[in-house]
Amino acid sequence: MSWPGANISAAIVLVLSGTAAQALDAIGRPSPACPATSPVCVGLRLHLATQADGTSFTHTPEWLAGQIAEANRHFAGVGVGFEVAETARLGPNEGTVVTRADRDRLGRGRWRRGAISVFIVQRLMDVDAPGERQGVHWRDRKDAARRWIIVAAEATDWVLAHELGHYFSLPHSRYADSIMNKTPRLAPPVSTWSFAKPEQHLLRRSLRQMLSTRELVATRAKRETRSAHRQK
Ligand SMILES: [Zn+2]
Repeated sequence: MSWPGANISAAIVLVLSGTAAQALDAIGRPSPACPATSPVCVGLRLHLATQADGTSFTHTPEWLAGQIAEANRHFAGVGVGFEVAETARLGPNEGTVVTRADRDRLGRGRWRRGAISVFIVQRLMDVDAPGERQGVHWRDRKDAARRWIIVAAEATDWVLAHELGHYFSLPHSRYADSIMNKTPRLAPPVSTWSFAKPEQHLLRRSLRQMLSTRELVATRAKRETRSAHRQK
């Protein structure tokens, strides 16, 4: 998603005290848990950029909670919810992601199976055109099976959900009510956008595949999930 420039310094809100470990606990705690009604829960491994002083993150807890809440809202119809599984701090020079090599470097050595790696950075530059992006689903150029999501710390609240759509195999679409449709439009109102029904079907199929190959491991799976697995 393109991003017409923003006053990033305005995002410097959170100043954490105590040890780094305490700070990381604090950043995960306000985030919404996987919804109780969700048949399957999948963990997010968050890697968080800090400001140059190393004591404050480039995002706020409220922003992070909003991204995860939006992801859970949009994926409710798919039957999967997300929650923070781990948090880790990025290095001091990793908050600005400019090149393809930068994107590779973020996840290489950090990617692991079982959960979805998400990198929250300060700035994410477009590598195909001038300007910045709000988010990207990125495949390691040395191993396309290794992939992760990068989100800029001031992204619109549904950007994580959009990139998770790519993670679960969706391309951009032309459905008027879909968050995968990047075409500017006034109707229907953005508050009604989510995943279109055919997209939900594809998302469910991808989820089942990723759980069966253990690319993703459910942190919670109810009986409904097992019956879903039996369906073709
Ligand atoms: Zn996209």
